[in-house]
Amino acid sequence: MSTTMRLDLHSDLHRAEPADTTSLQRVPAKRRTALLEQDAPLLMQARASEGLTGGLVERCAAAGLGAIYATTKTHDMVALINRHQQLQAGPVLFDAERYAGKGRDGASGHLDPDWTAYQRRIGIQQPLTDSSYIAANNHARLTAVLKEGANQSKAITTLPLAKHWITNRADELVDQINRFGNPVALMVEDRNDPFATEAAVLGLLHVLAHADVPVLQLRCDITAIGALAFGASHAAIGTSTSRRHIWPPTGGGPTKREPAAYVPASMSHRSLSTIGLAIPHFSDDLRLWTCDCDFCAGATLDHIATETEAAMHSLHCLASLAAKVIGNDPTVSARSWIEACRHALSVNQEISAKLVKNWPVPGNLKAWIKATR
Ligand SMILES: [Zn+2]
Repeated sequence: MSTTMRLDLHSDLHRAEPADTTSLQRVPAKRRTALLEQDAPLLMQARASEGLTGGLVERCAAAGLGAIYATTKTHDMVALINRHQQLQAGPVLFDAERYAGKGRDGASGHLDPDWTAYQRRIGIQQPLTDSSYIAANNHARLTAVLKEGANQSKAITTLPLAKHWITNRADELVDQINRFGNPVALMVEDRNDPFATEAAVLGLLHVLAHADVPVLQLRCDITAIGALAFGASHAAIGTSTSRRHIWPPTGGGPTKREPAAYVPASMSHRSLSTIGLAIPHFSDDLRLWTCDCDFCAGATLDHIATETEAAMHSLHCLASLAAKVIGNDPTVSARSWIEACRHALSVNQEISAKLVKNWPVPGNLKAWIKATR
């Protein structure tokens, strides 16, 4: 990140206030503007099969959430739209995922206007473009994607970005976004959580604060809710680790991991075995481990036994956190988010101290607190 931008960010966001909660009242969080026709701020980023046969549409309907499905199969797309309509679940978007896997850089890099045109024909009012990956310092690709996206009627320009654009070039990124004037959907590459550093959160806040167009933050972890608190139009949390970031091209992709559940007190996802090992250490006080969501109904989290059960619980809790944080007053939303991060950070430190290992304190919570102090 350039020195100029850091100073600008600190003058905007921090105003030399001490690191206490009162300084948050001065964070210039922007009022969020809903872009999609049905205003569900939070979306789940998922495989098409999770919606078609995995019960995700039912869960989204119960929690008031929308979903983004990774598919270009026309039959599946129509079926998913119909299911969302029948069950009155939140809005649907489709992700062509051209930025992933072999050919992610795209030989030409051109967007396919037929992709967004087809989506509009089947009822998606504001479809995502099929942008290919935008590598660090590939200024020509960024400009081309934004220009072609702006030329597609009512499309949202997808920006699958190398993290460098957020951590070091956020000023240039938002200038280019504003130059073409089309709504954008950010997705950021990282081997792990892209928003686990202060620089990344500062970059995201810079884009949200200075963009003249609606911004969606897709394919991430709980930072999705932070982004909404600071003015993102919509944001998406992945239903699995691999859908909470763009996987880098080297290293062969994500390995199969055991099911994880969201631990509300710690605001982080943990494997079911880790949760099972941690709970006995707190047998004298289980308050951190009980859950009042509709699925758990006051039980401790070690009653969750399968991936489907973990998904039912996690989605309920994430929707609940978003509903608590996101309100009409952007300053209150921003403060609520940071206070939630502070509380969860202290919970993680408490659990980590007791377990000694196997419970790393989440970098994203520290990053949000540092970036807004
Ligand atoms: Zn629960």
